[in-house]
Amino acid sequence: TAMLIDRYSRTIDYLRISVTDRCDLRCTYCMPKGFTEFEKPKHWLSFTEIERVVRQFAAMGTHHFRLTGGEPLLRKNIVELVERLKSIEGVHELSLSTNATQLEHYAHDLKRAGLDRINVSLDSLTRQGVAKITGFDAKDKVLAGLAAAKDAGFKHIKINMVPMQGINENEIDAVVKFCMQNHFILRLIELMPMGVTAQNHQYINLQPIITRLSQELDLIPSARQYGKGPAQYWENAEGTFSMGYITPMSQHFCQSCNRVRLTVDGTLYMCLGQEQKYPLAPLLKAEVDDHTLQQAIRNAINLKPLQHDFVEQPLKLIRIMSSTGG
Ligand code: SAM
Ligand code: SF4
Repeated sequence: TAMLIDRYSRTIDYLRISVTDRCDLRCTYCMPKGFTEFEKPKHWLSFTEIERVVRQFAAMGTHHFRLTGGEPLLRKNIVELVERLKSIEGVHELSLSTNATQLEHYAHDLKRAGLDRINVSLDSLTRQGVAKITGFDAKDKVLAGLAAAKDAGFKHIKINMVPMQGINENEIDAVVKFCMQNHFILRLIELMPMGVTAQNHQYINLQPIITRLSQELDLIPSARQYGKGPAQYWENAEGTFSMGYITPMSQHFCQSCNRVRLTVDGTLYMCLGQEQKYPLAPLLKAEVDDHTLQQAIRNAINLKPLQHDFVEQPLKLIRIMSSTGG
């Protein structure tokens, strides 16, 4: 079957799957305090429905999949879903993005189920910093989760940090050191204006930080990719430390965008920062045949916009990251 190619000749070969829009944390940049607009459980895709979508993407050349949310480890029987997705032909790499609060309990089972990679959000290493950003005293649990992931044998564990003005920008160096010591791959991510975050004015342009850290740590640009993401990596001469930057604001990478997102209610979103979407749930409920489902996915891909306009229209997007699946 032909690959998925959009109107701008981009090959779409990466699907991010949100398995829940709920979360046990309330990161200031993601889910505002008091947020209640969660999807009703009766609208959640079942594992069988998620499998069906994944099978169609795999048949059309997508081999990389990521489970995210919300907090994916909150979805009941998530280990079973990993196992089921990994047994689908064409699923070569399945990864998970998590806040790690529950990872201590799941790491070994996830590894056994075949999960390939883990990304963990960590914006601070201090108890107060974590509490301030996530709304919960979660530091110890997160660190225990990371330790468990290492212990379970996960390699190239990635740490995601969103530096914010006046919040955690002075902690970047500490997180770098922590990642060096633990052989984690750090990625710094530019804050995107989604929902309430547009009004916070905490955005930091990462370009000067890239220059500073490269000089101070003697890092050189790396050709490594570590998965299907848009990060630009840098590494030391010995190749013992890598870090990457995701710069949707200061230097967007829309021209090479390769992904779409499936939400928990079965909607395909074409772009994190735009409204184009396509509901697959009605087709899944109607149990249409594979050909019809694949044609619907192709129609959806045809809607994919050229780029986000977070910079030009920062107040446009009401949708928050945890709803679309980060
Ligand atoms: N709960 C999991 C976690 O925190 O890793 C998975 C979902 S979370 C939405 C995925 C990623 O999105 C996290 O690394 C988080 O830092 C990032 N994120 C959320 N809102 C963001 C925003 N407004 N700008 C940039 N990154 C954001
Ligand atoms: Fe939850 Fe992840 Fe959003 Fe934080 S970034 S509120 S952990 S979904």
